[in-house]
Amino acid sequence: MKADVSLEHLYRVFTKPENNDSTLAKIERHLSDNLSDFLSQHVVTKKTSLEEIEQDFREYLVPESPVFVSSHAQDLLDKLVSHSVNTSSPTFIGHMTSALPYFHLPLAKLLVGLNQNLVKIETSKAFTPLERQTLGMLHGLIYKRETNFYDQYLHSAKDALGAFCSGGTIANLTALWVARNKILGPNEHFAGVAKEGLFAAYQHYGIDDMGLMSSKRGHYSLGKAVDVLGLGRKNMLAVGQGSQVLKPEEALRVGKEYQARGKKLLAIIGIAGTTETGHVDPLEELSEVAKELGTWFHVDAAWGGATLFSSTHRSVLKGIDKADSVTIDAHKQMYVPMGAGMVLFKDPKSSNTVRHHAQYILREGSKDLGSTTLEGSRNGMAMMLYSSLHILGRRGYELLIDRSMQMAVKFAQLIQQTEHFELITPPTLSLLTYRLCPQHLSNMAEASDQQMAEVNSQLDTLTVSVQKQQREAGKSFVSRTRIETESYKGISTTVFRVVLANPLTTEDDLRAILEEQVTLAKNTKIWQELSKQSIERIA
Ligand SMILES: *Cc1c(COP(=O)(O)O)cnc(C)c1O
Repeated sequence: MKADVSLEHLYRVFTKPENNDSTLAKIERHLSDNLSDFLSQHVVTKKTSLEEIEQDFREYLVPESPVFVSSHAQDLLDKLVSHSVNTSSPTFIGHMTSALPYFHLPLAKLLVGLNQNLVKIETSKAFTPLERQTLGMLHGLIYKRETNFYDQYLHSAKDALGAFCSGGTIANLTALWVARNKILGPNEHFAGVAKEGLFAAYQHYGIDDMGLMSSKRGHYSLGKAVDVLGLGRKNMLAVGQGSQVLKPEEALRVGKEYQARGKKLLAIIGIAGTTETGHVDPLEELSEVAKELGTWFHVDAAWGGATLFSSTHRSVLKGIDKADSVTIDAHKQMYVPMGAGMVLFKDPKSSNTVRHHAQYILREGSKDLGSTTLEGSRNGMAMMLYSSLHILGRRGYELLIDRSMQMAVKFAQLIQQTEHFELITPPTLSLLTYRLCPQHLSNMAEASDQQMAEVNSQLDTLTVSVQKQQREAGKSFVSRTRIETESYKGISTTVFRVVLANPLTTEDDLRAILEEQVTLAKNTKIWQELSKQSIERIA
């Protein structure tokens, strides 16, 4: 249905509804009812292939004439909402996105309604101190400095305790950008890499390469960071075949070798909760290694940072306060809507290495947040975290984190007790991996190398097939990945990956997921083939 093309019509689009019976108010209620409906259903409500959905999004010309909001709203419900993924479903346990506290919906309306831009005070006013305070709270959670420290730095125009951004990727990039500009910083004879560029910096400092080090489980955003920072992807040193963590002695050895070849190590990255298996690097020891190698120490706690809320589990992150910078995502274990990441700096002066001024905004001495953030225009997402921190409180978050951990332990027990399953990596920070393995093959570790490789590859096929079928059936969702583990001699295996973060997931949900997987598995051809296999012990 076409609407008028007139300024009068457009004027109506821009103004707020007059009363509760107005068309816009009705549309709003219709959308909201529909959303509630959607959120109460399965992971996927309609079995439609991506190719079919693409047919609805084929048109490439900008629509010539306006349509009524009401008809467009219905269009969205039909084409978009009904084919979305219900990430809040208790049986959606495959990724780091989970249910949100319901209060975020009205808050989101406030956020959009106010439409503040945090790049500068002139468009954000109170949102700027709010964001700084929120960053201060997270800084305090990690670094636990004294009151004087926060009195001095929380709202200081010359310093920054951190930077708010859209997610862990930008947070990691910001941290490493700051590190690069500091390590290749200005001195008496050199204006610094920010001004002179990388080539001049390498010449000045007498190096021919610069790199980052992390375990093999480092997030792919680190690869993007070495690329964007101009260091080159070959200088992303991913250390430790078959190991889920970065071992300090190996980090030291690889770092020394790298330096001995005339290269500079920009940073060691400790991971607090790997994306694939949830493992935490030995942060305390790695901070010592970083010190010995004279390099920046960054901790990527995008997933695991929220563990600091829990008195029971926070010791897993021991040593995080030694990091020069820390990444935390609020849109993961802090249950804030997508688009909320942070980097925190131990030294409030650190981000001065990237400070940027412009005449019309970000004037010198101003408190504009945009002068030290990578992103420019930015919304007031910090408000969502600020509100969550108040509404849930440290103790509320503690309960949520503790529950997730308990559920992960429960699920691991279930996997071990259920026939035809094998736990691959035990629960760490509420993530775990496992796979299907017919019971008669449970002594795989005793097989010859050749047989192990052969059976493993069949099991890989089985996992892929079951994972896809389960996803398509739409009742539940478990993800899959490939990892190398020491128990299988470093052979890479395909595994189911589970993230237990949704507080609404129950033990019955988990049991049902395993049951569905066995049922699906038994109907595959590969299962028949596997039933003919038997492990011959090697003498
Ligand atoms: C999720 C994650 C990231 C990336 O964060 P985005 O918010 O997706 O950009 C980086 N590192 C780790 C360890 C993560 O889990």
